[in-house]
Amino acid sequence: MQQDTIQAPPCASSGCYANAVYSSDRCWEHTADKAALLGGIEAVVTKGDSLSCVSLVKVDLSGRKLAGAVLTGANLAAAKLSGADLSGAALAGADLRAADLSGTNLQRANLSGANLEGAMMAQANLSDANLDCCNLRRANLHKAVAKKASFKRAEMSYSCCVEADFSQADLAGACLDAACLVGAVLVEAMLDDAILGGSVMTGANLERASLNRANLIGTCLRGANVCGAQFKRARMGRIDLADADARDAVMARAILREANLAWANLAGADLSGSVLERAKLRGADLTGASISGANTSGADMDGVTR
Ligand SMILES: [Zn+2]
Repeated sequence: MQQDTIQAPPCASSGCYANAVYSSDRCWEHTADKAALLGGIEAVVTKGDSLSCVSLVKVDLSGRKLAGAVLTGANLAAAKLSGADLSGAALAGADLRAADLSGTNLQRANLSGANLEGAMMAQANLSDANLDCCNLRRANLHKAVAKKASFKRAEMSYSCCVEADFSQADLAGACLDAACLVGAVLVEAMLDDAILGGSVMTGANLERASLNRANLIGTCLRGANVCGAQFKRARMGRIDLADADARDAVMARAILREANLAWANLAGADLSGSVLERAKLRGADLTGASISGANTSGADMDGVTR
């Protein structure tokens, strides 16, 4: 994903090993007239001209008006873009490793294939943005808003998505291995074939989300809302759904071996053909639930409501 097309000349300051940034013969740190450089960038964007593949390493563009900027394949590693307006920007394949995008407006931006490893994106607006195949490993998306955004096959392991809003977002095939999604909103999100193994999703809202064939091995969904969510053929061994609201959830043919479903509300849920071997169902509400053909050998069914 990382493009190595940019070969910026070295910084003209003696003893500096950094490369020069766009429109300067020096790196950002050694550029004397920073205001002129920033004004020049805004002028290019206003004119609608391209900045694709330019180097803007560590440049401080925070709060700048860059809506619709063409930065395809640009090097923005460690750039400061907090509070900037990058709505509708073209950032496909851009290098944004460790960039500061906190509170940045990225609505409708195209970030497909961008490298956002370790990026700070807290409270960023990613609604309707395209982040397909992005590297978001260890990125911070705390309270980010990503409604209807697309994260297909994105690499998001170890990311922090606490209280982020992914309502109706498409995360099909995304890897969220060991991610933190405590209190995240995933209402009607598409998570088919996603990898959520070992992720922490305590109190998350997954109402009517689609998680068919997803890997949820050892995932913590304690107290989560999974009403009407689809988990057909999902791998959910050792999942923690204790106290979860799972009314009308569809877990047909899901693997729930050693799952913790204690005190969960499974009223109207479809557990037909599922594997519930050694699962804890103590105190669960199974009113109107279907468990036909389910394997419940060794399951703890004490105090189950039927
Ligand atoms: Zn320098």
